[in-house]
Amino acid sequence: MAIRQIKLPLFPCLDKQVWGAASKGIFSTKSTYHLLLNLRDYLATGHASSSNRHKWEDVPTSVWKRIWHSTTLPKIKNFLWRIYVDGIACGDNLARRNISIDPGCCLCGYNLETCDHLLFECPFPRAVWFGSNLSFLVSNIQPSLAGLLTGWDKFPFPSKDRGKEVLCLVSFVCWHIWLARNHITFTGIGWSPEEVISRAQSAFQEFWDISTTGKGPTEPVTQHLPSTLEIAEGWQCPPTDYIKINCDAALPLDSTAGGLGFIARDHNGSTLTACSEPIFISNALLGEALAVRAGLYWANQANIPLFIVESDCSNLISILIGGNSHPLDLDGVIHDILRLAESFSSCSFVNISRDVNVIAHHLARKALSATSRTIWPLSNPWLLNLCNQESLSFACPLE
Ligand SMILES: [Zn+2]
Repeated sequence: MAIRQIKLPLFPCLDKQVWGAASKGIFSTKSTYHLLLNLRDYLATGHASSSNRHKWEDVPTSVWKRIWHSTTLPKIKNFLWRIYVDGIACGDNLARRNISIDPGCCLCGYNLETCDHLLFECPFPRAVWFGSNLSFLVSNIQPSLAGLLTGWDKFPFPSKDRGKEVLCLVSFVCWHIWLARNHITFTGIGWSPEEVISRAQSAFQEFWDISTTGKGPTEPVTQHLPSTLEIAEGWQCPPTDYIKINCDAALPLDSTAGGLGFIARDHNGSTLTACSEPIFISNALLGEALAVRAGLYWANQANIPLFIVESDCSNLISILIGGNSHPLDLDGVIHDILRLAESFSSCSFVNISRDVNVIAHHLARKALSATSRTIWPLSNPWLLNLCNQESLSFACPLE
């Protein structure tokens, strides 16, 4: 499987020296630090903890979804995620990175400040949890956010919405315990558990009311009407004599079996070709690059001179236009794309929003259930329907 994910270039290219300890092949002190840590682990345990392997890669999909699909503030989702993967600047983590500070808990004063201690084990958060509307009695057996989120489904909530609401309050309580910790660390002034509860619950209530009614207190109650500008932001036909190719890739979570799709259209919006192809890839960026390469290769074979490529992957377009550094596994594919681009009289790469890349997106999704590359007949009802829907909104330049 790992071998299938290695993408060989279509055209021969020269070997080059790269720094193998970094994903982009570029030397950095950070990657050297990880390399030395791995070497130390290897000497101590007989196996290295790969610098490419992070704790977040072992997080179950259910927990990943629980955090990122939860109803709470984006900064709090980010905070929960970093707590889960042990990535916040608590005393223990800072001390492990050789930062000379007191790694003790500033709330109780006599335990090591780990993420789990800070949020659950310490007497201070225990008082907050119990005193809050949750009346949550923290277990004495290794309480942790990981344990709470992993076993979330087992809580007997009366409804799914109620479960969401409770998770939202939990997230605000976690966040405000962290704020209390920061407040005493940086100002020397502590909050009482009652203050933390009050701040967390009122912030939660304000957020929950806004997110469930859809109206903030200051939001004007005017109906939002689409403007002509928004219509003009849809997919645009290329200029006369130009062909435009829209490319996209799909990669389900926890899978290496992805798909790519591309569609080529002329200045009237007429479809020239539409393709879906299953691919084995290790990451979505590689899939996006393969989709662009497939589109360019088709154009090269069809002898098309004037050409525009659209992708909704801004990272890829930055690499292709801006010359940004790219991960090593993309090297051969990027080389192919740039070489193919040179074979056209005019070839430009454009980043567009996902909303404008709908057909390419559907083509890539179709590839997930395909067994081999499919060039769709232009009379295919499924494809025709998609093209017709898009043609209702798109604009073509005047002749
Ligand atoms: Zn403590």
